[in-house]
Amino acid sequence: MSRYRWREEIIKLGQLGRKNSERVEAREHLDLNKGLYRLEGTEEMKKSRDFLVSRMKAAGLNIRVDRVGNIFGRQEGSRPNERAVMLGSHLDSVSNGGMFDGVVGVIGALEAARMMMAEGFINRRPIEVVAFMGEEGSAFKKGGLGSDVLVGNRSIDEVLALKNDEGSTLEDALEKSGYKGDFLMNLDSVEYFIELHIEQGPVLDREETPIGIVENITGISWLNAVFEGEENHAGTTPMSLRRDPLLAAASVVLSVRERVSRLAREAGSSTVATVGRLVVHPGAPNIIPGRVEIGIDIRDSVGENIRRLRDEVAEEISNLGKQHELGWSLEVPCDYLPCPCSSDVVNTIEKACAKRGIKSKRMNSGAGHDAMNLAEKVKTGMIFVPSVHGISHSPMEWTNWEDVENGIQVLFQTMKDLCAI
Ligand SMILES: [Zn+2]
Repeated sequence: MSRYRWREEIIKLGQLGRKNSERVEAREHLDLNKGLYRLEGTEEMKKSRDFLVSRMKAAGLNIRVDRVGNIFGRQEGSRPNERAVMLGSHLDSVSNGGMFDGVVGVIGALEAARMMMAEGFINRRPIEVVAFMGEEGSAFKKGGLGSDVLVGNRSIDEVLALKNDEGSTLEDALEKSGYKGDFLMNLDSVEYFIELHIEQGPVLDREETPIGIVENITGISWLNAVFEGEENHAGTTPMSLRRDPLLAAASVVLSVRERVSRLAREAGSSTVATVGRLVVHPGAPNIIPGRVEIGIDIRDSVGENIRRLRDEVAEEISNLGKQHELGWSLEVPCDYLPCPCSSDVVNTIEKACAKRGIKSKRMNSGAGHDAMNLAEKVKTGMIFVPSVHGISHSPMEWTNWEDVENGIQVLFQTMKDLCAI
């Protein structure tokens, strides 16, 4: 494996979308004020795709771009009708993001394909290296777009019609950049998908374990609640005559935390729940609020735990509404079931780690990924590498080079082993 080749590629991609195109080779170079802005529809995104395509071509892969900008680089297999092993991730970043999220999985997949060719390994199955479009959802407001279309969760037309803040559609953006292809990947031709990704959490780093093997990708449920009371003067309205929705909202914040802790104590659940959004209207210190919006995120790898907490919180909101004489409403804008990875792939990754003498542990993913979509249609697995201090979606995101190297070794071994199944 040529370490300098893939490392240089990750560093080069890390310059695209960074202030002054600064080069970051080591963690000491990170700067909180110089995050990555590589969003779909930007010039930097086009340059990243150009860069990837040039590297894929140089490796001898056959490039295809589909109708929503997903890029595939294919190496044919030795047997014509075998189903493929697909590996990859995404190139886009969040606003003010880091240089490893997604990129490690794309460049790692490319490197694994190159290592295979250099070694003279005869791949019975075709290899498809993929870079998915729009995973982060930062510009066009919805995430996992490219993989959503691939598995049929969203229609092509719906996705192409999405608009960014400047009012231009994704279709325009892809056309302008030259990445609106006419290819359509049929997943019936794919047997396995593997995504190498940074953990984005602290577990591997803290436990000094170089590889995490994902067994389940978390389920995610959002609750949006609104309490409506009576907006009024903060000085002239006696305390006994107020209908203040913020009081009820404050109880919701506390109650979510208490209930999660109780579920963990009583049922041993590993549920996490966050009240991350609180919008107070009109939001002035001298006005009793008239309306408060609350956004709650609940995650667990066990669907039943999510449902239980969501039901409890919904009941609490209804009780608080009555108690404080408020109007209230509740909606669930997104609800993803937990998604198990394929046990075949999990076992293969585990054996690959053992073969390479790299310590690993099985774990769950608390973040959503393209793999979550792919798992609906093909046998899917994820390989995690440590995020230093668990930081990601931040300019300070870092994964040590030797950890990336371990990840690529395991990805390469897993790909070869899956080719032989
Ligand atoms: Zn990612």
